[in-house]
Amino acid sequence: MTVAAIELRDVSRHYRGKGSWFLKAEPVRAVDGVDIALNEGETLGIVGESGSGKSTLGRIAAGIEAPSSGHVSFRGAPYAPIGSALWRRQRRNVQVVFQNPSQALDPRLSIAAQIRQPMTAHGIEAGDDTVAEMLARVGLAGLGNRFPHQLSGGQLQRAVIARALALSPDVIVCDEAVSALDVSVQAQILNLLQDLQAEFGVAYLFISHDLGVVRHVSHRIAVMRHGRIVETGPAAVVFAQPQDHYTRSLIAALPAASPAARRARDGRQSASLSKVR
Ligand code: ADP
Ligand code: MG
Repeated sequence: MTVAAIELRDVSRHYRGKGSWFLKAEPVRAVDGVDIALNEGETLGIVGESGSGKSTLGRIAAGIEAPSSGHVSFRGAPYAPIGSALWRRQRRNVQVVFQNPSQALDPRLSIAAQIRQPMTAHGIEAGDDTVAEMLARVGLAGLGNRFPHQLSGGQLQRAVIARALALSPDVIVCDEAVSALDVSVQAQILNLLQDLQAEFGVAYLFISHDLGVVRHVSHRIAVMRHGRIVETGPAAVVFAQPQDHYTRSLIAALPAASPAARRARDGRQSASLSKVR
């Protein structure tokens, strides 16, 4: 039996809610009894509307935040207590890429220095050649001496991806990683992620509110609503035969984009999926 890269069993995360002078604060059930497994080398898409608990789930899966209850394991072993030496070693293998790359990067450091920094911190040899190779791999060849304000949003996100990948992680949690980018740049970054997966075997927990984007990259999809997974299955099956009414409403909402944009997106999707498989 294969061991999942990351497994969540009956995981919940409750936050203290905001009360008012006449109302007792009800806890917010951000994540409520979730079971999911991310297999080695696969992309599991997590989709749902804003506030459905996706980011909280992502932080728990990445080991950055502890659940209120339930079990989280990384390659079959529970995460060590947050901040411990073992936890730091585990965390090296689970990187995160968030929505806003300029917040993730240090404005005072060159792009090359930002990629070198976590490698050095983890005792990995980070010579100029290695860093140049990482930059080339994400399409930033020759831009290592630039500073963040000298790059576009798409280039910045490439730098963040290179920095994550430099630690040779087993998993990258992508939380709305392309949501701030223009549609054409989104497609480039999604294709880059797929290429890197084919090359390095990294698994993605790919979180987005945008079902079109999730569909583009995911092998399997889990649909989240009010902290729960309401439907999960192979991406093609979820799309062809959605079982849950909420999934159906998400799919029905997709043509909101212009017909031309949709055709372009669906065309790219089938091309890139066939490339990966
Ligand atoms: P999503 O990423 O799907 O938009 P989140 O995981 O960010 O959802 O949030 C899920 C719910 O949990 C929301 O109601 C949000 O307000 C609440 N929440 C998230 N983080 C916190 C926190 N640190 N403290 C209190 N409530 C939180
Ligand atoms: Mg979120």
